[in-house]
Amino acid sequence: MKVLKFGGTSVGSPENMRAVMEQVTDGEQKIIVLSAMSGTTNSLVEISNYLHKKNKDTARIFIGKLEDKYKQVVVDLFTSEENKKAGLKVVAKSFKTIKSFTSGKFGLVGENTILAQGEIISTNLVTFLMNENGYNTKLLPALDFMKIDEDKAADLPFIRDNIKPVLEKVGDADYYITQGFICKDADGDINNLQRGGSDYTASLIGAAIEADEIQIWTDIDGFHNNDPRFVEGTKKIEQLSFNEAAELAYFGAKILHPQTVLPARVGNIPVRLKNTMNPSDSGTLITAESDGMGIKAVAAKDGITAVKIRSARMLMAYGFLKNIFEIFEKFKTPIDMISTSEVAVSITIDNTQNLAAIKEELDKFGTVEIDDDMSIVCIVGDIIEEENGFAPKVFKALDGIPIRMISYGGSKYNISVLVPTINKKETLQSLSDNLLNS
Ligand code: ADP
Ligand code: ASP
Ligand code: MG
Repeated sequence: MKVLKFGGTSVGSPENMRAVMEQVTDGEQKIIVLSAMSGTTNSLVEISNYLHKKNKDTARIFIGKLEDKYKQVVVDLFTSEENKKAGLKVVAKSFKTIKSFTSGKFGLVGENTILAQGEIISTNLVTFLMNENGYNTKLLPALDFMKIDEDKAADLPFIRDNIKPVLEKVGDADYYITQGFICKDADGDINNLQRGGSDYTASLIGAAIEADEIQIWTDIDGFHNNDPRFVEGTKKIEQLSFNEAAELAYFGAKILHPQTVLPARVGNIPVRLKNTMNPSDSGTLITAESDGMGIKAVAAKDGITAVKIRSARMLMAYGFLKNIFEIFEKFKTPIDMISTSEVAVSITIDNTQNLAAIKEELDKFGTVEIDDDMSIVCIVGDIIEEENGFAPKVFKALDGIPIRMISYGGSKYNISVLVPTINKKETLQSLSDNLLNS
């Protein structure tokens, strides 16, 4: 069985929802993962922010606007009065849940419950739509099998054990629809796989059911060799290896949630990226092998903070780096890049939640400098294969860019540089002009 995921734009209007229905109904049984309609999760985040700030009146205005939008979607989507009624009931139920948080206490569980409503509504509506059009379709409630553990990592063994009973419970169907993004956490509360997490839902389900293929349907014809939001003249890549795609997704290529590739790689399940607006395009295929074409693509990850620890005690001493790393480990803060000199070590992190406490402990080891608003630009490919050396070409392409850190040789797939975020766009454009498209 295949797992197909459709993103926000793909289900962003009644017309697009109908296009998804036409696309998936080829008679082959499948699981279809849907995001919320585009813009919805952003609106729900905005509503939650007003509630956190106790600005309940503004929250109510935004809730009202969003509810009106959904009522119109229902009216435009269905032909039968019966389905219009059923659709309006789903919308009313979700908005009753959202409105329940406009009085009383509001915390993280409340926020996550609000954020979940976008996917709950979109999946219910498309399930009704497909049944109205004669396609035997059942809804799989993601909250019954999608789970994260205490460390907020996806619990694949749990998902594997629980999805099959849920499939059996809902009964035989040609098409199964489920919510992307949302899950339960270790406390049994509603939670999610972070923004953009519907891709990850699809690959987790793919791994859990040992799918033949995972397809990510979005609003672009596949993985491009640079970020089309910032760079002109990007080109689609036909094929990527799991490792290359994992590096690019982790380092900011928004087309895939950072962790999407991992379950697919474990299960050796091909991932195909396809354009809902142009389904005849071949898209991008991600498999175990690389086609060995040298430099493939670049991506950038924002919101990076560089931490530099300078200490004379580092000179000729062993155990210094271990002590430093242990502090980051203690505060469960992952490190992305590292570079060292005789007397200093620089580290980058993207989670600054515990930075003050980390700095306090690092202060015992030397002078600590912190720089935020940085971006990691990651250049990916089978870089060892590249003729005439890979690094010189990269450095030539980066001429004039104020590089703060470089990481090369950590893997055969990437070279990363740290630049101030204000220089990100020109860095990406220069890499496209001098490295990718020349
Ligand atoms: P969806 O809602 O379908 O999940 P996203 O907006 O999350 O869609 O992801 C698709 C978008 O990712 C594209 O429209 C594009 O702007 C952006 N993007 C960033 N980097 C890349 C890349 N390297 N290749 C393709 N798209 C990219
Ligand atoms: N709706 C969620 C978001 O906007 C999940 C997703 O679209 O993948 O982040
Ligand atoms: Mg996405």
